[in-house]
Order: sequence, then structure tokens, then C-alpha cells
Amino acid sequence: MMTKRELPPKSERIIEPFRMFGNVYFVGTYAESSHVIDTGEGLIMIDTGSPSNLEVILAGLEKLGFAPTDVKYIINSHWHWDHTEATRAMVELSGAKTLIGREDYEKAKRYFDADILISEGDTLTLGNTTINFIETPGHTKGTISFFFNVEENGRVVRAGMFGGAGVNTLHQGKFDYEGCREDYRNSVNRLLGEKVELFLGNHSWNNHTYEKWLDLCEFGENHFVGEKAWTKFLESCLRKLDETIAKDVL
Ligand SMILES: [Zn+2]
Repeated sequence: MMTKRELPPKSERIIEPFRMFGNVYFVGTYAESSHVIDTGEGLIMIDTGSPSNLEVILAGLEKLGFAPTDVKYIINSHWHWDHTEATRAMVELSGAKTLIGREDYEKAKRYFDADILISEGDTLTLGNTTINFIETPGHTKGTISFFFNVEENGRVVRAGMFGGAGVNTLHQGKFDYEGCREDYRNSVNRLLGEKVELFLGNHSWNNHTYEKWLDLCEFGENHFVGEKAWTKFLESCLRKLDETIAKDVL
């Protein structure tokens, strides 16, 4: 159980770079998540965020003992700026190859020109890690979600990220595309069928990165691994979808 505590205002929540579990690290900010997986043959980065986020990422990599050139691939969960705007700069520093869902490729071009377009069932292998991708449209048409195994002290857990959970694009007039609500519901229902023990937040509030990091720092308790958080979060996504639809009907 996470410790209940008074939290500072959201704008003042700073998360230091840290190892979450096994070979997975958090290097982002409260507002914009970024993770790296240390595969033994280089890093796979998940999302970059805005240019101001990039400064935090670079400082984080250095603090954790990594160099920008260690980054071999950058997975972009969906095309929005708060996940991708700094990807081009990160590529210039690292030479990394970039990936995005095929349906988000064109829209993402304003920020970077992806090297690899992800389709349903695709995999990416680097070193000790193989990532399995699925298409989970809704938040954007090309939102992708993905899963991989993480090992620590002989314990192997399944890590997963829902690559675009926000219902902000599901309000009437804000649709990324027609049919997004139906797609979102189907995507979440599909994700509910996946067993995930290490739930990575596409935003830090998805999986309570900040609170769990505080517990890790203060008590040495790792609450990132567990079977309930993934399902609980996805169920909250369905509730938010229903609330969003209800608001537009009123
Ligand atoms: Zn978004």
C-alpha cells in the first residue's frame, strides 16, 4: 500500500531519476514521463516530452551513469508534443532510431520523422529485451501500447504501458478522428486482458510514479510491482470515458 501523505502542488513535484525495477529507469518529470530500459546492448527510451523535459532527461541519464549515445531506440507512444517534441533533439544527440504507431506517423512529422512505423503485433529486440507492440487507438489514432519482461533477482515480471490514456481528445469537438470513443473503449477492454505487474505510466499520474518514488526513497518499499494497479487504472479509464460521453449528452 502506498503511504498516505500531504503532497506539494503539482507544479512543485520533482522526481529524481531512479531505477524503478530491474533494468527499467524513470528519467522524466511529473508532467512528462520518460523511461529507459537498459538492455545490456544500449538503452531503449520511451517518450521524450518537450524541450524543457529533455534537459531533465539528459541530467538524469548522466546521474544514472548513461550517455546520450547509449540510447539506440526511442519509442514514441503517440504523436502529441508532450511525448515527442524533444525526440528530434534526442536523435541528434544519440543517433537513435525512432518508432511511432503507423497511424500517428504523419501528425508526428511536425516534431520528427520516424524511422520505424509500428503495426499490430510488431516486436523490437535489443540486448536482453523484446518489446511486444499492439495498436490501441482512441486517444490518437496511432496510439500504441507495449509489453516486455523485466527481471530482478531471478523474479521476472511483465511490464506494460498504455500509450495514450487521456480522455481529453474524446470530448465532442476535440476528437483526434471519428470513431475515437469506440476505439478507446475497445482498446481499454483489450488491455484489461493483459497481465501486467510493472505498470509504466504514460503520464506519472497514471501509475502514481511520484508517490511510489517517495515510498521507495523514504522506506525502501517498491510499490511499482503489483498485480492490481494496471487493472484499477484501466477501469478508471472506462469510467472517465463514460463520464465524458455523459457530459456531451447533457
Ligand atoms: Zn496525448
